[in-house]
Amino acid sequence: MADDLLKDIFARLIRATGPISVAHFMAESNARYYGTRDPLGACGDFITAPEVSQMFGEMIGLWLADLWIRAGRPGPIAYVEAGPGRGTLAQDALRAAARQGLVPDVHFVETSPALRALQRQRFPGATWHDDFATVPADRPLLVVGNEFLDALPVRQIVRMAEGWRERMIGWDAQGQRLLPVAGDRPMDAAVPPDRAGAPEGTIIETCPAAAAVTAEVAARLAAQGGAALWIDYGHAEPHDGSTLQAVRAHRKVDPFADPGEADLTALVDFAALVPVVAAAGARCDGIASQGDFLRCLGIEARAAGLARTAPNHAPALARALDRLTGAEEMGNLFKVMAFSAAHWPVPAAL
Ligand code: SAH
Repeated sequence: MADDLLKDIFARLIRATGPISVAHFMAESNARYYGTRDPLGACGDFITAPEVSQMFGEMIGLWLADLWIRAGRPGPIAYVEAGPGRGTLAQDALRAAARQGLVPDVHFVETSPALRALQRQRFPGATWHDDFATVPADRPLLVVGNEFLDALPVRQIVRMAEGWRERMIGWDAQGQRLLPVAGDRPMDAAVPPDRAGAPEGTIIETCPAAAAVTAEVAARLAAQGGAALWIDYGHAEPHDGSTLQAVRAHRKVDPFADPGEADLTALVDFAALVPVVAAAGARCDGIASQGDFLRCLGIEARAAGLARTAPNHAPALARALDRLTGAEEMGNLFKVMAFSAAHWPVPAAL
């Protein structure tokens, strides 16, 4: 019942069967959120790197083309983007790649009907997939995902006096507000041995969905050739605590207040994905900050070149460059992680 507020649906469910897990809450909230709107841009809830400047997608297109050329220009080959939003990154990346001779067929892994419709305007010839299972199996893959993993549901376990419990979402005593509560089933077996003695109140967050999709992509690369690039806000080292947050109209809001009406994200734990890639038989090429990655690929020269061609855009280009690479902006908080087929050349800039 798409007209019902998700909060009311959760209310009925929780009253009938008890609290739901954080992962269930996040998955349903984001399915509703992305399924019903275009959240991107100045008038939406948040802005992503490809929407800041064409330079972002162009650098990724050149990264892909360089790797493809060094791999011996194999063809046919597929560009597969996970969660492509408005299709802006694909448009900029594939324009830059085409200048180097790389013209792959285009596949989008996207669950939102609203965003699929926007993507179709820009890529009428693309093929859409609900998940990676149906992506072509007979050719190398060039996989890209920007702010895709951070939207996938996280699971949280919390240390209580009596042991570890799943963190759940229930109602407050007045039945007015959704809020986190501890589940009643023991979860001690799910805690890594070195964290077992953590103090009461400690929260351990994991993203089984990010690990699963990374394992699936890595296994495909190992079998078919190609490379993948995940770009997201996250950390390269393990951490404790909840990183769940909600953004609406460019402001942080209470993640539990209006489920389905705000973008729910969690920081990506890139370190946790490294062993997943190796176990699936692919090579992890490294994790870099977005700022270092883009500078290494020549974004500063690209900004200077664009400013020479259009001097009246120079101030806007300088602002966009700072936004994408500045240490206080997206440059440090955002990370890139690349992994590839071991029989492929090592990608640049990591
Ligand atoms: N990459 C775009 C959009 C980021 S927003 C950009 O950088 O601008 C997150 C995107 O992931 C949206 O397109 C959303 O619909 C999609 N998405 C979220 N959860 C998904 C899932 N489980 N499977 C496929 N796509 C998903």
